[in-house]
Amino acid sequence: MLLLAGGRIVTPGGVLSPGWIGLAGPLIDAVGSGDAPEQPAVDLRGQWVLPGFVDMHAHGGGGTSFTEGTEDDARAAAAFHRARGSTSMLASLVTAPLAELEARAAMLAGLAGDGTVAGLHLEGPFLSPARRGAQDPRHMLAPDVAVFERLHAAARGHLRVITLAPELPGAARVIEAATRAGVTVAVGHTDATADLTLAAIDAGATHATHLFNGMRPLHHREPGAVGALLDRDEVTCEVIADGVHLSDIAVRLAARVKGSGRLVLVSDAMAAAGMPDGSYRLGSMRVTVAGGVARLLEDPADPGRAGGPGQAGPGAIAGSTATLAGVVRHAIAAGLPVPDVAAAASTTPARVLGLAGRTGALSPGLAADLVVCDDDFRPRAVMRQGEWLPGSADTLGKP
Ligand SMILES: [Zn+2]
Repeated sequence: MLLLAGGRIVTPGGVLSPGWIGLAGPLIDAVGSGDAPEQPAVDLRGQWVLPGFVDMHAHGGGGTSFTEGTEDDARAAAAFHRARGSTSMLASLVTAPLAELEARAAMLAGLAGDGTVAGLHLEGPFLSPARRGAQDPRHMLAPDVAVFERLHAAARGHLRVITLAPELPGAARVIEAATRAGVTVAVGHTDATADLTLAAIDAGATHATHLFNGMRPLHHREPGAVGALLDRDEVTCEVIADGVHLSDIAVRLAARVKGSGRLVLVSDAMAAAGMPDGSYRLGSMRVTVAGGVARLLEDPADPGRAGGPGQAGPGAIAGSTATLAGVVRHAIAAGLPVPDVAAAASTTPARVLGLAGRTGALSPGLAADLVVCDDDFRPRAVMRQGEWLPGSADTLGKP
């Protein structure tokens, strides 16, 4: 048994300080508090150990993306996030012409088949142009079961999540078809009222795509999608807690309302994550990154419109340049308790994706997926299925 010991180990039952983790091949064999039962192989004093992050909403990173480019580009994007702590992730697509979405779903299904990603997330094409954010309104479609079936077939069983706007005609039938197929339906990029959102939840929607962003805001007489998604206990809510997409107050309120177990931290990263400012793409849309904030350069539906930091069209925030590790660090700095952050970054998304029996917590029997962080929650080493990722192990103290 390989022993890692001496650090603060974040488990579902609380923080073991100090604690130890025993590994058996790719799995966690045992976890305990206090001194290690034998001489540890790795001394973790002064470090935190979090479960490997599970990012269920990411479009790219490190200069490449899932939404365009080659299969090698997609693998590079996954490797970028993996090396920064996201030991499981979905590949998220944005709205695009149907044939292109089918082709990309088919290509990414190969990456899901070999374990590079944990599956696919379709953010579109059944979205509301009124809340399009950086999504291309030219390719948005009314919800259609036949179109869903085509995309589902292209993904060969690896489609895990579809984001849709429930106020669009035909949405209820797609929600039911997706739910029957075992695909999580997420409400997002929507102008739905609270009542329409509640109806979608009754029809089977169980998740919110980046709560607050790309949806009708909460008004005290018309609480909108935000109010309904917060109100219903069975709904898990994503937040992009990167300090750009949301006020920390909004993050804390969502965390308090949903409680531990129903909040999900996501990166919503695009290609520019981890890269310098400059020009990038998010699907068909041109994006400019300045000061680490990605914004839409122009609106193809309204090419003459001047830019500005609106919620749609030019100036709209176009995905993030964050990693989930950065979001975790920000959420902790915003005041969320470390165990709740670990739940929101790992345990809960793993459960949403049906992976709870395999990963998402530092518990015996699960994969040895973990992130060693310094006192400031910067990742120093990442282990996936019992193997240190390149560059990890030599940065850790040997006893
Ligand atoms: Zn997204």
